[in-house]
Amino acid sequence: MHARVHVPLAPLTTLGIGGDAALIAELTDPAEFPEVVALADREGARPLVLGGGSNILVADAGCTVPVVRMATKGAKFEHGDDGEQVTVTVQAGHVLQDLVEQSIAHGLTGLETLIGIPGTVGATPVQNVGAYGQEVADVLDRVTAWDWAVGREVTLSAEDCLLGHRTSIFKHSTRWTLLTVTFRLRPSKLSTPIRYGMVAEALGVPKGTPVPLADAASAVLAVRRSKGMLLDAGDADNRNVGSVFLSPVIDAKQAEKLLAEQAPVHTFPDGVTRVSASYLIKAAGFGLGRPLAPGIRMSGKHFTLVAEGEATARAFAEAARVVADAVQKSTGIRLTPEPDLFGDEPAYLRLKQKALASTTS
Ligand SMILES: Cc1cc2nc3c(=O)[nH]c(=O)nc-3n(C[C@H](O)[C@H](O)[C@H](O)COP(=O)(O)OP(=O)(O)OC[C@H]3O[C@@H](n4cnc5c(N)ncnc54)[C@H](O)[C@@H]3O)c2cc1C
Repeated sequence: MHARVHVPLAPLTTLGIGGDAALIAELTDPAEFPEVVALADREGARPLVLGGGSNILVADAGCTVPVVRMATKGAKFEHGDDGEQVTVTVQAGHVLQDLVEQSIAHGLTGLETLIGIPGTVGATPVQNVGAYGQEVADVLDRVTAWDWAVGREVTLSAEDCLLGHRTSIFKHSTRWTLLTVTFRLRPSKLSTPIRYGMVAEALGVPKGTPVPLADAASAVLAVRRSKGMLLDAGDADNRNVGSVFLSPVIDAKQAEKLLAEQAPVHTFPDGVTRVSASYLIKAAGFGLGRPLAPGIRMSGKHFTLVAEGEATARAFAEAARVVADAVQKSTGIRLTPEPDLFGDEPAYLRLKQKALASTTS
């Protein structure tokens, strides 16, 4: 474990915003986790866990709570006796993209449409990462985690993780640091049936068709690239967190109205109907590339926020508020911001609370 003080967090996140971590420890060797525990005991605080920083907003004043950066690597594939299933146990700091490519190379289906999502495997159960018809809940077997509440390592089954749409027992909690994640994958040369129109179109197949694993992954990458949903070095829209807002839940009446407008309305594995937040942002009249707050603008490719220059967390929160308010005014639907906050940014917290209040009122 390597610990340092006063470390800028902005370069460790994809938004490139925010102040310093008072203390950061980087873990590369899983056997050294007891040193993290000793450090947290000394500091008297549960650490914040950082993976690839692709779903985090860091406050301008940084954070005083110790940060642990998970950089442990390794994926162990184990074939079941029946040949029906393969389990893969992955260190939390392993890069998700690497795991997806390894799975495809092993001829395993279950993760191929998650290609291109930045970040680490340890973060994937936190918000039940998903894209283009697959999500972690479909293939998660179990995780091991350090449970700071009881001071020991625990194993949680997929059921224990309470995975929901972009949420889990881990979201908004500092109780657990995920150490390993075990997935159950199926040997197959073919992908799961392609459910997303744009991906099916890129492949030239009808929706519902399974295709060779590598073809599915290439098509997803092409669709992601066209929307600026890939971190391409040198791309002007590179500083982002993917979708800033969750796809909001809509009722049957709203779904009927939106479907009549050809809006991307989907019923998700949790049985709930949602519409894409980017569709609502476009419908509220925002143009691509439009400046929203100092250093924050709409991406030039997709209806999400990107940072440039000396962007601040305060400006990001202000831009997100402008967008959420405009969408609410034009559609009556309140958007909820997705990225987690490190440190204190009152305007961003207010935005999250407002969204919560509108869903519970
Ligand atoms: C271009 C782009 C595209 C994206 N596309 C998608 C998408 O299609 N689908 C999707 O779901 N997400 C998407 N995201 C969001 C993001 O990539 C995912 O949420 C990803 O899983 C975050 O991983 P990370 O390692 O960067 O986590 P971080 O951003 O470092 O952390 C995110 C949260 O997880 C917690 N965390 C991280 N590691 C651990 C751990 N080991 N133990 C406990 N808590 C932990 C952090 O404390 C934080 O609360 C996208 C982001 C970008 C920039």
